[in-house]
Amino acid sequence: MLTKVPLLYIILLVNSLSLAYTHYGIAPDYLTIYVSAFLSVACLSRALRWYRFKNKTFTLAQAKHQIRMTVLFANIMGVGFSWWSYTLYGYGDFALQAHVAYYMSITVIGIIICLIHLPAAAWSASVTVGIPFVIFFFWSGQPVFVAIASNFLMVVAVLVMITLSYYRAFSSVIDAKQELEIQNRRTHKLNAQNEILANQDGLTKLANRRSFASYLNKKLQADLQQRNFIVGLIDLDGFKPVNDIHGHAAGDRVLTEVSMRLKKLLSDDCMLARIGGDEFALVIDHSAVHDEIHVLGKSITEALQRPFTMRTGLVQISGSCGFAIYPEAGSTADELMDRADFALYEAKSRARGSSIIFSSEHERLIRQKSQVELALTQSVSSQQMTLHYQPIVDGASGKIVGFEALARWFHSELGHIPPDQFIAIAEKTGIVTDITLNLFEQAVQQLKSWPEPLYLSFNLSVQDVINRKTLDLLKLILDKHLVGTSRVQFEITETIMMTDLEHCSNITREMQQMGFKVALDDFGSGYSSLSYLHKLAFDTLKIDRSFVHNLHLDQRSQGIVKTILALCTSFNVSCTVEGVESEEQKNLLLALGCQYMQGYYFYRPADISTFPLV
Ligand code: C2E
Ligand code: CA
Repeated sequence: MLTKVPLLYIILLVNSLSLAYTHYGIAPDYLTIYVSAFLSVACLSRALRWYRFKNKTFTLAQAKHQIRMTVLFANIMGVGFSWWSYTLYGYGDFALQAHVAYYMSITVIGIIICLIHLPAAAWSASVTVGIPFVIFFFWSGQPVFVAIASNFLMVVAVLVMITLSYYRAFSSVIDAKQELEIQNRRTHKLNAQNEILANQDGLTKLANRRSFASYLNKKLQADLQQRNFIVGLIDLDGFKPVNDIHGHAAGDRVLTEVSMRLKKLLSDDCMLARIGGDEFALVIDHSAVHDEIHVLGKSITEALQRPFTMRTGLVQISGSCGFAIYPEAGSTADELMDRADFALYEAKSRARGSSIIFSSEHERLIRQKSQVELALTQSVSSQQMTLHYQPIVDGASGKIVGFEALARWFHSELGHIPPDQFIAIAEKTGIVTDITLNLFEQAVQQLKSWPEPLYLSFNLSVQDVINRKTLDLLKLILDKHLVGTSRVQFEITETIMMTDLEHCSNITREMQQMGFKVALDDFGSGYSSLSYLHKLAFDTLKIDRSFVHNLHLDQRSQGIVKTILALCTSFNVSCTVEGVESEEQKNLLLALGCQYMQGYYFYRPADISTFPLV
């Protein structure tokens, strides 16, 4: 349409100039020169105006305005040119009058064709120009003009009909186009929303793991000068019990508050993301000076240690941080994340709520770990792992009531590797269940020869507990050796229980139903929340050796042990104290009411053959 309207004005201009030319000298100059010049300038300016619109896109309101203006101008120009033509008609002979008639009819037809996309303008132009034209020439009584008027009427009628049907087809195309545009806009909006959802954590509105990884990769690609920046991982300690004890809504509120506290602490150009349940990650341009990074770590851990106010009361958690410095710690995203994760793991095992920077010492540990990992896979199949046993005694009489089996691994090249180290690696590499089953088989073979009521206390790792199938496999081993479940106690740490309180409680309940005994191991070393104890199914509580260490010096430890003992009595579960190393500790524990004990004072873990079994 934008290209056709200027054509209309060009037709009008050329036709009018030719009419002025034929009437020049015959009609007065004001008509052939001035009025015609005025009308020509008006035509040209309108044509130019439309030409300028050539590449312009109109909004709906603008388009409507332009259509209204076009209809108005079509009518004004129609009236103007008609008046001019009729005036000229009065000055010429028959041939010139015929030129006027011809000019008017052909111009109206041309206008209708050019305005085919704008029927309102086409029709109003044909009415304002056409009707007076027909009346005028019918009125003239001159047969040639009457014939021209009749022909004109016929052609215009047909043209109006064509315009109408053309317009309908055209407007349905426009409607379809508009619909398509609306659909496109909707698709764009949805795409934008999807993009946000795919890259944002729904709860905290921070970046998610995916967008964090892509940010880190882009940063590494862009950073050609190898300027220092740090990758940090933050993991909340004690968050799972919040979910279990206060409910998921409270857990969500803690996570949102954590994200706000972290955002407040970090500069705007820091990339902060929530990359897992209670895991956050950051990338920040920072100096590589360790002291300065420690200051950052300290401010983060302190911010997380402040209590969170919930409707159910105050919630206390903490957070540990692991940092990896680019480019020292690694040059790829995976390397940096692995190193930061390693540092985080170190921080968590050292002291909750601390921060550690990945160092060359860690690099050495990683190499050692991978050697152990490799050796471990070979050792399981070659059965290099053996068991030592540590008696559990009745503290008063010193009589052995059972034995805790403790894994031992001596590797020909790597030497003696402590069980807590290789069990942790085996858990990560997913072969811990093979080790457990292998060791359990060895232990049950021993247990078979022990007189009743001596029992076996056997440590399980987190995967053994979580995977329900392992329990069946353990039971199968007992069945194979015709040993009853009542002679076995499984030791499960409270940290394991906390990985999934509900699931683990169900499993330990099932263990009890099968006849096994369950001991809550290392109690006091983990979350130590007395409030969840009633949710757990267990028969024995093993008090962590850290409470025994300073028992004779520390009134508080004595108080805690006393409270735990009272709790065991009220829950009707037995209690064993670990790590008794001196007579003084033993006597104190007896005085506090403790019956079962374990520790170097009585026996160190050793080969079973070294112990009296009766
Ligand atoms: P745990 O279950 O707390 O085992 C007790 C640890 O304390 C043993 O260390 C034992 O040697 C040590 N211990 C015993 N009495 C005393 C004492 O009086 N003073 C001191 N300072 N320590 C004492 P060990 O054998 O190095 O085992 C370490 C950890 O490795 C165990 O801690 C247990 O969590 C894990 N572990 C050992 N064997 C196995 C196993 O067969 N399976 C699994 N899943 N974990 C095992
Ligand atoms: Ca144990």
